Amino acid sequence: MFLGNSVPDNEENTKLCICPTCPTYKKSNLSNNVFCARGKAKETVKTVNCICPSCAVYKKYLLDQLYYCTIGKSAEIQS
Ligand code: SF4
Ligand code: SF4
Repeated sequence: MFLGNSVPDNEENTKLCICPTCPTYKKSNLSNNVFCARGKAKETVKTVNCICPSCAVYKKYLLDQLYYCTIGKSAEIQS
């Protein structure tokens, strides 16, 4: 069993996260970000189009999933 890479919840990653510009984020009125580090959004998520693969955090930590706002933090996801 392999889990996703662990993403630190820090200021740098918060600045790099592009979640707030994502269609899912806007459609669902989400309020947090860096879901790959912090885990699921507290709001109900209407999934539209996850843009995580375009994010610098995604590339930096070699992430391989989508919709962290619904599936939870990378380090807890089986891939
Ligand atoms: S990979 Fe996705 S959830 Fe993680 S920081 Fe980037 S846009 Fe946000
Ligand atoms: S995890 Fe993906 S779908 Fe969710 S808000 Fe961030 S970019 Fe959008």
